[in-house]
Amino acid sequence: MRGTVLYGPRDVRFEEREAPRILKPTDAIIRVSAACVCGSDLWPYRGIQPIERPTPMGHEYCGIVEEVGKDVRTIKPGQFVIGSFATSDNTCAICKHGYQSSCLQREFMSAAQAPFLRVPLADGTLVPTSGMPSEDLIPSLLTLSDVMGTGWFAADAANVKPGSTVAVVGDGAVGLLGVLSAKQMGAERIIAMSRHATRQKLAREFGATDIVTERGEEGIARIKELTKGIGADSVLECVGTQQSMTQAINSTRPGGYVGFVGVPHGASLDLGQFFYTHVHLHGGPAPVRRHLPELIKLVLDGKINPGKVFDLTLPLDQVAEGYRAMDERRAIKALLHPNGTK
Ligand SMILES: [Zn+2]
Ligand SMILES: [Zn+2]
Repeated sequence: MRGTVLYGPRDVRFEEREAPRILKPTDAIIRVSAACVCGSDLWPYRGIQPIERPTPMGHEYCGIVEEVGKDVRTIKPGQFVIGSFATSDNTCAICKHGYQSSCLQREFMSAAQAPFLRVPLADGTLVPTSGMPSEDLIPSLLTLSDVMGTGWFAADAANVKPGSTVAVVGDGAVGLLGVLSAKQMGAERIIAMSRHATRQKLAREFGATDIVTERGEEGIARIKELTKGIGADSVLECVGTQQSMTQAINSTRPGGYVGFVGVPHGASLDLGQFFYTHVHLHGGPAPVRRHLPELIKLVLDGKINPGKVFDLTLPLDQVAEGYRAMDERRAIKALLHPNGTK
């Protein structure tokens, strides 16, 4: 089997690797129907998050179960499944509280940009669809593995309710799907912050009512202007930099909520200043597994079409081009098709 391996900054290779096999009795092996490149893959790709050794890449996946370990009870060969980027038993006390991405047995997935993938804790991590979904639904189902699940969690953590005024910081795939999530949760006004015409257009398709192109102090002032001078009820922070976090907190009205899902890189919080904002802050790696059943239903019922964030589709063996296009912001998100690759 060939799979995707990152060797160092801007050095992605599609090369011969050992095919995955069952290592623990709770594992499953899936044949990947589609995988993709994540915004978070760009941190090590750009060398901002150094890697120690060549690293198999990819943590967003859906596919068909090939084989299961002897202790797997509910997942069966032949099922179409979607799993989170973080594994979970879905039975421990933390999972029961709905924070499966902090499961006591959690592992972070890697190596999904390949034709076959080993998924630990299969019963707890994977959710099967009833029946085989049609080909056109696969991109949307794939997004549930991370980006859509993460955008949804950002909106949930930011307490988006029917009638809410929401601002979204970040116009990457997660930010755009945060817009879609806020719309689905009934937000009345959704302000997307973006400077890119194609992303603004998609944000509007997903439900944004206003676009703000300003950043920093000007961006905050603009959001205040649009919200009767007080700030948004809910702000989704989908970037992870100091600027985006400051932007999010200062755009929220006193007593409002920030849902933050951008993995922080060099961002910190001045508690002395934060104290006086009265803002609720909640975030972290999204417990995608909590949201999967609901989101799968929304996709299968045709209520949401998050697969629109994929504006580039490539055969898996051209994965390096997917990284390049996203790095250069030529593509919002690249979908990878293993069809035909061995
Ligand atoms: Zn991801
Ligand atoms: Zn657990």
